[in-house]
Amino acid sequence: MTHQPGYFGHYGGQYVPDQLKPALQELEEAYLTIRQDPEFFRELRYYLKYYVGRPSPLYHARGLSSYLGGAQIYLKREDLNHTGAHKINNAIGQILLARKMGKKRIIAETGAGQHGVATATAAAMFNLPCTIFMGEEDIRRQELNVFRMRMLGAEIRSVARGSRTLAEAVDDALNYWVQNLEDTYYLIGSAVGPHPFPTMVRDFQAIIGHEARYQILEQAGRLPDYVIACVGGGSNAIGIFTSFLGDAAVQLIGAEAGGINLENGQHAATMTLGRPAILHGCRTYVLQDDQGGVMPVYSISAGLDYPGVGPELSYLKDGGRVKFVPIKDREALDAFQLICKTEGIIPALESSHALAEAMKLAPKLSSQHILLVSLSGRGDKDVHQVAEVLGKQIQQ
Ligand SMILES: *Cc1c(COP(=O)(O)O)cnc(C)c1O
Repeated sequence: MTHQPGYFGHYGGQYVPDQLKPALQELEEAYLTIRQDPEFFRELRYYLKYYVGRPSPLYHARGLSSYLGGAQIYLKREDLNHTGAHKINNAIGQILLARKMGKKRIIAETGAGQHGVATATAAAMFNLPCTIFMGEEDIRRQELNVFRMRMLGAEIRSVARGSRTLAEAVDDALNYWVQNLEDTYYLIGSAVGPHPFPTMVRDFQAIIGHEARYQILEQAGRLPDYVIACVGGGSNAIGIFTSFLGDAAVQLIGAEAGGINLENGQHAATMTLGRPAILHGCRTYVLQDDQGGVMPVYSISAGLDYPGVGPELSYLKDGGRVKFVPIKDREALDAFQLICKTEGIIPALESSHALAEAMKLAPKLSSQHILLVSLSGRGDKDVHQVAEVLGKQIQQ
């Protein structure tokens, strides 16, 4: 599928300043080495089992399925992982790699703070100092996650330039990395960025689909008709899709943030409205304005408001193997509330986008059909926001 190392068709690559090339080369070589190393995978399996709590259950959502009156819906419960989402799978994998490479410090950037928390968690467990770059504006908006990261021992570097959000935090993290290549490991949180990150993050998240595939065969005796996942950078999506790419009868659907309005820019529907360009070190679909500048994005869920997407998903979109649909804030909120009531599960607003697509599809299918949905995270982090949007008060 990859025609050239680091490329997925025309997408991917390493569009970075020359100073970064040696670091990416070192990373690629280290990654190729550990891929052949049974000791590395033994260690990884150990932490995924005893620290993260894998395998995560595959759960037949009977209440939801019978409410919708069509296909049977199965939820892959990444929300039950330690720290409440799939991001920890990747954080543990990359920190183990950093240790093999002899790196002494972990850095990461974060917007909503969820990747920062997963990174700070894994760094604390392995006793590695951790610095998280974060825009001043995001620090203000995400004070709970900032406090979590500090409790976990991470240092927060506030970035007070430009929009004071993720874009500037990425620049500063990259700058810091260039100046401290010797001892520093830069931990990217989704299947994005320059090669080898998209491949590496996919491989660390592929456990989701690997488990889900044998679990559905065990429980239902057959493969699903559809696999649905929400798409921010695309790591939980490519993670669950990878094991089903070879099964032509299994349809793969990515649910992206349709936000409030697709016409006036209040969304993050990269696959629906973006065009190929270079963003954060790779060629991929990017939301752009008329001048080709990166568009400001919006979504009700902080984890989905990214103007790009992973290069492998871009390739799979062009080939038609994965379909992408925009889901509106309102639809995600309806799904959020329905899953709470029918299943006793509070889903993350990100995951609610995938659930909303399942809600649309299920009634059109028969009870013989199976939908497998990636429940990428839990929604405890989102209850204040949901209360606000629904006009409800939470007493502090
Ligand atoms: C971060 C996050 C996402 C989006 O990231 P991907 O890389 O697209 O998976 C989705 N769901 C949850 C719960 C998240 O925390």
